[in-house]
Amino acid sequence: MAEKQRVGFIGLGTMGKPMAKRVLLHGGYPLTVYDLLPAPVQELSSAGATAATSLRAVAESSDVVITMLPNSPHVEAAILGENGVLEGLRSDAIVIDMSTIDPAVTRKVAARVTEKGARMLDAPVGKSSPAAVDGTLTIMVGGDEATFEECRPILSTMGTTIVHCGEVGAGEAMKLTHNLMGCLIVAAVSEGLALGAKAGLKPDLMLDVIGHSGPSSFHLVNTFPKQVLRGNLEAGFMMDLMYKDLGLISAMGSDLGVPLPLANLTREVVSVARGEGLGRLDWTALLTLYERWAGVQVRLEKVG
Ligand code: NAD
Repeated sequence: MAEKQRVGFIGLGTMGKPMAKRVLLHGGYPLTVYDLLPAPVQELSSAGATAATSLRAVAESSDVVITMLPNSPHVEAAILGENGVLEGLRSDAIVIDMSTIDPAVTRKVAARVTEKGARMLDAPVGKSSPAAVDGTLTIMVGGDEATFEECRPILSTMGTTIVHCGEVGAGEAMKLTHNLMGCLIVAAVSEGLALGAKAGLKPDLMLDVIGHSGPSSFHLVNTFPKQVLRGNLEAGFMMDLMYKDLGLISAMGSDLGVPLPLANLTREVVSVARGEGLGRLDWTALLTLYERWAGVQVRLEKVG
């Protein structure tokens, strides 16, 4: 049997830490890890991973290097920067960036990786931290199809729906299109629930009626009842990330010459919410901004 690829994992935050654990513990891949913070590195080391002392060192000891970092500048710096991944990357290695970033930056980084003879996939993820823990993420992949198939077993330790979307950058394009719709739905549900509640409609009744009709959505019938509607504002998906993603979506629209009035307006509403101190809370906390505006509180009576 072929030896398992040696995997490097960079970025052990809310998503990266549980994802790296799955690669190590469920996939059984030899794993080298790196993060700017010592605590998650220590945790992974205790679970059996090797701690690297630099980004370059991760690449030197890996066949496949995975990055799960906050945004485009972090990925660009980690891969292309001084003492970064590219400096240590072997010419037969593969980089998989799973962060949500600007597809134009993905293509720029991929071009540099390719110049070195190595290969790159973008593989951003849908769903949030519970799915990262369970290994049930949706993974949207861009890049060469044969490279994708080569990496499928590693990706399968982290996700259950793993889809090849096209050339490098296509995974990010799919992810931002996905998040555009998600963000607009969360804003629409917040606005609608506040209006209905102000008109005297009970939230349970709104969910029952609208949840069984045309405007129903996963977020209306699942996310809102689990989060803000029962007073739980602990971030499943943080409002600050919603803001960040709407910025990437807006830039993608500008690059492609596609007007995105709803995305841009929603970004402004989220900006107000952040100004009101809601940025670190769950994105459904957008409803609490509308509650302030409308002078109502929207909470379920039947919390279960
Ligand atoms: P996070 O901020 O929790 O984690 C990022 C980690 O990267 C941190 O541990 C940080 O110390 C580390 N880091 C930053 N710069 C680094 C560098 N140069 N070298 C090494 N480590 C570095 O972020 P997250 O919530 O895990 O999100 C990661 C990505 O996944 C983002 O692009 C986000 O948009 C996307 N995403 C997040 C969620 C979610 O629910 N949190 C869901 C889907 C996608």
